[in-house]
Amino acid sequence: MIWRNIISIADLTNDEIEQIFELADSTHQLRADKVAAGRIMATLFYEPSTRTRLSFESAMQRLGGSVVSCSDMKSSSTAKGETVADTAKVVSSYADVLVVRHHWDGAVQAMAEHADVPMINAGDGSHEHPTQTLCDLYTLKKEKGDLKGLTVVICGDLKNGRTIHSLVYALARFGANVVTLAANGMELPQYVIERLQREYQYSLAPVASDDLRAVVTETDALYLTPKQPHQLALFTQMDSAVQSQLATMVSGLRYDAFYMTRKQKERMKEGTTGGSYPTIGADFLRKQRFKDTVVMHPLPRVDELSPEVDKDRRGIYFKQAAYGVPVRMALLKFVFDRMDGKAKPAKKTVQWFQSPDPFGPQCSNANCITVTEPGSATKKFEVLSNGPGAALLLRCSYCDHRFKVQLIGHAKSKRYCAYDISLADTLKDWLKKHELAIFNSIKEAEELGYEPYKSGPQRTIMDDVEILAGVRELSQQIARDCSDLDRLLILGIRSKGSYLAQRIAAELEERQKRKPEVGEVEIYGSGEEIRRIAPADAEMAPMVLKDRTIILVDDVIYTGRTVNSALSIIFRSGRPQSVRLAVLIDRGHREVPLKPNYVGKHIPSSERERVRVKLREVEHDEEDKVVIYSIIGPTEA
Ligand code: ASP
Repeated sequence: MIWRNIISIADLTNDEIEQIFELADSTHQLRADKVAAGRIMATLFYEPSTRTRLSFESAMQRLGGSVVSCSDMKSSSTAKGETVADTAKVVSSYADVLVVRHHWDGAVQAMAEHADVPMINAGDGSHEHPTQTLCDLYTLKKEKGDLKGLTVVICGDLKNGRTIHSLVYALARFGANVVTLAANGMELPQYVIERLQREYQYSLAPVASDDLRAVVTETDALYLTPKQPHQLALFTQMDSAVQSQLATMVSGLRYDAFYMTRKQKERMKEGTTGGSYPTIGADFLRKQRFKDTVVMHPLPRVDELSPEVDKDRRGIYFKQAAYGVPVRMALLKFVFDRMDGKAKPAKKTVQWFQSPDPFGPQCSNANCITVTEPGSATKKFEVLSNGPGAALLLRCSYCDHRFKVQLIGHAKSKRYCAYDISLADTLKDWLKKHELAIFNSIKEAEELGYEPYKSGPQRTIMDDVEILAGVRELSQQIARDCSDLDRLLILGIRSKGSYLAQRIAAELEERQKRKPEVGEVEIYGSGEEIRRIAPADAEMAPMVLKDRTIILVDDVIYTGRTVNSALSIIFRSGRPQSVRLAVLIDRGHREVPLKPNYVGKHIPSSERERVRVKLREVEHDEEDKVVIYSIIGPTEA
């Protein structure tokens, strides 16, 4: 039998969501028709819940069905060590639909793969909460009419809040604009922003608005919109023209809804939960600017939403929670109607990568089911060969996290090499034939019996003396332009950009007898995205980006996508006064309209060529040098 699982909001098309809303408008009919008569729903909750579980159970009973429930899975065989896979298999023979909440990202997807009945995700870790999004959209529609063109401010813990992740994708699909107003350090993850950019053509611009000071004072907002094809996120100078462009854009914004969320303490490491958090209260209510802005919240609230808002007509979160029953009645009817064997999945068909070897790449998200309980999940990744800097990325099918691939191999000939853009077509071919291997490290490739491919002869195009001169030249220019050392922040793109940033800082120190602050940005890593390198004092307060003059440093600029990602991380984390770009080498071939301010050397090169900067810090025993060579394609090797 074929059926529909609702794991992600992407499992429903816009039309289907509209159909569900129509059904939710006529629940008296669904009740009269007893559409769930004779059916049983099982609710398995590995995490606390009030609204989601009770409204699902109420919905099922109102439809004439019945419910078996485990509201605290600690009292189930889970306590004896039963896997989610086994639990799903067993319970699916007791019920006709399963509603599951779990603390691991991707756990519900894994359970769906082992169950014999439809599965509905009631929240999985920090990943998604699609049925909350249905309630949110339904509420918004009831209050504001068409979703297209609305501007919704999402506020609070945008990093860990699963309701936020499902909601932004849905808002994007319906053509709404999103303003993100994150608590410090809890910004919308980069993979979410890039998906909005890639799939929905959203671009983002920082918003400096005094209005939002009624809610948060420490961080700035970002405006995500598909409408204005502005490249504001790419600006590197906060000059007066950009300032006034931003000011005009912001003054024209009509905030239709404010979606507040609580700090997801249970998903944070100990010691990282401190710091100020936005709040909505009297100040917000008094602002003329928000006179028609409805306030929403998935609940539970802690202290980010003052009870004063409850009495105001704009506070609609209890209504939002009440809509949980009709919306979930409608969703259950939708799912039951598709248990007739004719159901077609709504998701686009993706070509998945599965390792041809006994072990393969590991998801970088430590809370992903493939890491926490690998036995319950079959590791699968979407291969994205258009990452920043033409990087090869894997998207985990369970938790959606993306991470960068360095090494690929050919399973038949047992050869491996570093991934490069010139291998993009070969890679597609291997993927189609299930001959693609991907490794986390050379050690892993060699343990699996793979040998390296060869590349063409290397030509040194810069030696250590020239590199030293290049770094000096960059430092001199930077020193001329940025005399205020307190404002200056040298930020390298990890890893070679970080080493160059440190070298530039050392040069500046020599000239000015004071060391500027140095940090690094990591794109698609698994830790913090921006961190301080020097001064290396563990006791220091977190690095401040606001109002700084940032010099972003990388070794080579090519397509410009890496720098673009770094800029978006920077602007998401604070609004610097300016960002200037320093690179040792500019290879040309830009895909993103970015121009470095400081360039060590221009080296026009073809796409089949690889330019590698070899630094002592990385290569250990080698001298600094820049080499160029062509990849000998696996077919020619
Ligand atoms: N109830 C929502 C959830 O389960 C929101 C929250 O807990 O903050 O994700």
